Amino acid sequence: MLSRPLCFKACPLHTEQLKLLTQINMDSRPVSASRSAADSPVQDSRSSSCNGDAAVSLQEWQNWGAISPVPAMVTEVIEDLNLLEKDMNTLMDFGGNHGSLRGNFKVQEDKKHRAKFQSLGDSEKKLQFFSARQIACRLLGSRGYLCQKCWLPMEDCMCSRIKHCSLWHRIRFWLYMHPKDFLRQNNTGKVLWQVFGNQAATLCLYGISELEEIMWDSFKLAGRRNVWCLYPNKNAVPMSVQDAFVQDSSRCPESENNLVKRDDMMNFILLDGTWSNSQAMFNRLQDRAEVVWGEDLPCISLNAGVSSMHKLRPQPSWDRTCTAAAAVRLLDELELIPEFSSHGLRNQAIAIKDALEVLLEALTTRRLRMGRSISRKERHNASFC
Ligand SMILES: [Zn+2]
Repeated sequence: MLSRPLCFKACPLHTEQLKLLTQINMDSRPVSASRSAADSPVQDSRSSSCNGDAAVSLQEWQNWGAISPVPAMVTEVIEDLNLLEKDMNTLMDFGGNHGSLRGNFKVQEDKKHRAKFQSLGDSEKKLQFFSARQIACRLLGSRGYLCQKCWLPMEDCMCSRIKHCSLWHRIRFWLYMHPKDFLRQNNTGKVLWQVFGNQAATLCLYGISELEEIMWDSFKLAGRRNVWCLYPNKNAVPMSVQDAFVQDSSRCPESENNLVKRDDMMNFILLDGTWSNSQAMFNRLQDRAEVVWGEDLPCISLNAGVSSMHKLRPQPSWDRTCTAAAAVRLLDELELIPEFSSHGLRNQAIAIKDALEVLLEALTTRRLRMGRSISRKERHNASFC
């Protein structure tokens, strides 16, 4: 059994609130904007969605948070879905799930994508196809339903309540996100680029090579000593923020090469996925680090202690929702290092925390409006957000 990473252990949100985030994620409901196979048979090939209706433009792709061109394989998957629509003379149907196909279209598409998956020779291509298909389906199913910025249903959009803030220019976050977490309403990684902008907190989707290349080009430019993954590498002695950043004059000169140079950009990778998915995502990063640098990816473990600025408690079951809170904790710990203490990191951490509370409130309001049960304790906690 793997130990959980310390960065996934504490959060400004309470257990009940986190449970709520997870529950809300499961919610689905019929939506009038969804395309219904039963209601909308394709009359002829020209009226099907194959000639541009379902295609994803660069603007749409980037509005969802990505900074790359539209991934070629996502486009390919969408073209295949369009072809299937033509062949079946039926529109694809996502129903209330907004990410999973349903009905007869789903049955046929399952057959088709399984055959395609089997036909792909190497595991890298298979992974890229898996990711592209997940993302294409989530994107098409969420179109017209979710706000592109906050990934909440449009009627629950929280964008106007998010306060923007500049992240210190020497820090860049990379949200390395599993495709299954893309466009999730309760995903917290998204609040980082909502608050700081997508050049300071950048989305990188696992298995989407266009985004992974952008990330790795930045890492190569920065050099290994300026890249850290917030994840406890079980094969190495965990490095704390102190270990990584405190300049120790007693160290031998060679080791100074491993310390951050003044003015260098510091890149922090946050894994945004379930615990089991995070392991696979970490392994992929590690494999790439071996190829690029011939060495492990440097990892940082956050302190398990309670942060002084938040009323934090250990949270044993919140690993799906902790990504933004891990960034809060990292900024808190960096703030304690004298060299970094005068760059407003505490205020930047508070900005993330405030955005998390806005997210929780939006999700809670939605749940209550939809008549989902919510215990008195949950309501009490939610009132503090
Ligand atoms: Zn919004």
